[in-house]
Amino acid sequence: MTVTEETLERLAAIPSLQVSTATPLSRYTRFGIGGPADVFAQTAVAEAFLAAMEVARSSGLDYTVIGAGTNLIVADQGFPGIVLRFVADRLLAAGNHVIAEAGAVLQDLVDFTVARGLKGLETLAGIPGWVGAAVYGNAGAYGHSISEIVHRVRFVDDGRVRVFGNGECDFRYRESIFKEHKDWVILSTELILAPADAQALSRTAADILKVRNEKFPPTMKCAGSIFKNFLLANLPPEVAARVPPPVIREGKVPAAWFLEQVGAKGMRRGDIQIASYHANLIYNDGAGTARDLCALIGELKVRVRERFGIEVEEEVQYVGL
Ligand SMILES: Cc1cc2nc3c(=O)[nH]c(=O)nc-3n(C[C@H](O)[C@H](O)[C@H](O)COP(=O)(O)OP(=O)(O)OC[C@H]3O[C@@H](n4cnc5c(N)ncnc54)[C@H](O)[C@@H]3O)c2cc1C
Repeated sequence: MTVTEETLERLAAIPSLQVSTATPLSRYTRFGIGGPADVFAQTAVAEAFLAAMEVARSSGLDYTVIGAGTNLIVADQGFPGIVLRFVADRLLAAGNHVIAEAGAVLQDLVDFTVARGLKGLETLAGIPGWVGAAVYGNAGAYGHSISEIVHRVRFVDDGRVRVFGNGECDFRYRESIFKEHKDWVILSTELILAPADAQALSRTAADILKVRNEKFPPTMKCAGSIFKNFLLANLPPEVAARVPPPVIREGKVPAAWFLEQVGAKGMRRGDIQIASYHANLIYNDGAGTARDLCALIGELKVRVRERFGIEVEEEVQYVGL
């Protein structure tokens, strides 16, 4: 389905919606990879966002929602349809309850809560991206994830605004119900955090940020870890038995360990490079393409399957692929 003049006119008529056409998505992904979106539209106003979704639905166009693009691989051909961003970014606190809109930068939310002496997000310091996607993918680090403090999530389902409590979100390691319903769009989340000493939280966050910046230089064109780690309990016993105990952290086996065993470190295809110091870190070292990136990912999956009989599963999300 191609975008018609009529569809563009309907989108242009929505107040507060910024609309562009043939928009290069490489500008909106940290990998710096991705062809054009037929239409790119963003707004900080929920009504305008809902109206844009309704235009997409009624015109039969595919749509997808992105955040800061730090966990995306976008096709070199781009996305044939509408790419939407909900950029509302307010943060509100009342006691130990915090409401964060989906377009708020996760680090801003970390700083906001730490400054108020609210514990629960300090170990997520330095995770790039926005709040909406953090809830969608249950972002986390250092043994904690955002699901531990999510109280409620407000989202759009088929033009209706709905609210789920934590239990209904079906959070698991890097998973939530929102990953199973890619047409749902998170608008905001309400968090409940525990009071704690602001200075101690701030020190924890600063220490973590320092380690992260060494591992993932802020200018590196990457998506963090490409593959999810494995829960030890989910590995076949004969595979778990091959993993050296010191490798196991917080009940997980890093995907990087399996990747390292199959020679991933330092592999390269075109301008796509696997870090020499981290087998689960792939970056764009110049003019990399989604084609080379996907080929490299495919090769790693085959190597791990052949050597260990297990499937490494992408944490990164695909658009147009
Ligand atoms: C250097 C680096 C380090 C990282 N380290 C970590 C880490 O330690 N832990 C971790 O968990 N992640 C990590 N990540 C991955 C990434 O930061 C997270 O996945 C982040 O939550 C993605 O946010 P984003 O706004 O960039 O989302 P995007 O990449 O834009 O989108 C990711 C997914 O979220 C969906 N989405 C976005 N917004 C919404 C919304 N409002 N409603 C519904 N769905 C939505 C998109 O459709 C897409 O499928 C790292 C990434 C990088 C680049």
